[in-house]
Amino acid sequence: PRLANQIAAGEVVERPASVVKELVENALDAGADRVEVDIEQGGVKLIRVRDTGSGIAESDLPLALSRHATSKIVDLEDLEAVASLGFRGEALASISSVSRLSLTSRTEDTDAASRVEVEGRDMDARISPAAHPVGTTVEVRDLFFNTPARRKFLRTEKTEFGHIEECLRRQALARFETGFTLRHNQRAIQSLRPAMTPLDQERRIGALCGQQFIDNAVVIDAEASGLRLWGWVALPTFSRSQADLQYFFVNHRVIRDRLVAHAVRQAYRDVLYNNRHPAFVLYLELDPANVDVNVHPTKHEVRFRDGRLVHDFIFRTLHRALGEVKP
Ligand code: ADP
Ligand code: MG
Repeated sequence: PRLANQIAAGEVVERPASVVKELVENALDAGADRVEVDIEQGGVKLIRVRDTGSGIAESDLPLALSRHATSKIVDLEDLEAVASLGFRGEALASISSVSRLSLTSRTEDTDAASRVEVEGRDMDARISPAAHPVGTTVEVRDLFFNTPARRKFLRTEKTEFGHIEECLRRQALARFETGFTLRHNQRAIQSLRPAMTPLDQERRIGALCGQQFIDNAVVIDAEASGLRLWGWVALPTFSRSQADLQYFFVNHRVIRDRLVAHAVRQAYRDVLYNNRHPAFVLYLELDPANVDVNVHPTKHEVRFRDGRLVHDFIFRTLHRALGEVKP
């Protein structure tokens, strides 16, 4: 239904970076160990994501582009219910409704790849044979070609590409085991091999967050009460040139959380008497049963079962680590 398509597209596809986010997430979901992202003109002309994941069987191709849940939306009340949950299983359908999309894929158990192409809202998918290694390539061209109002809201090529870079930075920080490349207008911007050893990981952090950061950071690694916190926090000797460098991941998902932010800030202040925004890349791992990540999938919110425990664990861990290196 058109209503559902349009609303969902507005929710998921705000700008080129939102497309990149969804496509790369799909690649990671498919178990890809390499993800290549090609961008032209800030993503407005082309977004291409190529992966070495499991691929999609030809018979499943139309399904991948079809809308599942929100096709049931008939009135506003339903819509609100869905909006509060975010959209699931809708990303490709939404993106294809506001672009010219092609998806080429092959699975392990066949030599024949297939391509499905869709253009705009008329969901007449054309399927044809193609050549492709095991994995998937999704091409999104002419984003918002059929929604001029949306297109008008896009910023400069540089700004839109900046959002894409930030999106990929988060994904590459969340998945050390996956290799990533990023190109813009045929130019190589980022090339990250899978980072399996601590040294490789530091190299990746350096490439994504700057060598300055890693050179002035304390390594964190602590475990208690079913919680593990690891990563890097910068010392005051780190002078930030760019904007906030604050990344906090919970079970591989980047999040923003008041409780977490408070614990980090408090530890900094207590030990270093430092009121500036701290810089950090931190990973919290805990039993998924003890954290609800589905509060709002697009807004990076979480709800911990025992917030107090999490807060105190983060505070104590950072307090100790910073205290040990305090000049
Ligand atoms: P969701 O990821 O929430 O299921 P999407 O619209 O993003 O919804 O994708 C729909 C489906 O298409 C996925 O569930 C998956 O089965 C398939 N799919 C999409 N992208 C890929 C990919 N890169 N590799 C393998 N399968 C994919
Ligand atoms: Mg998806």
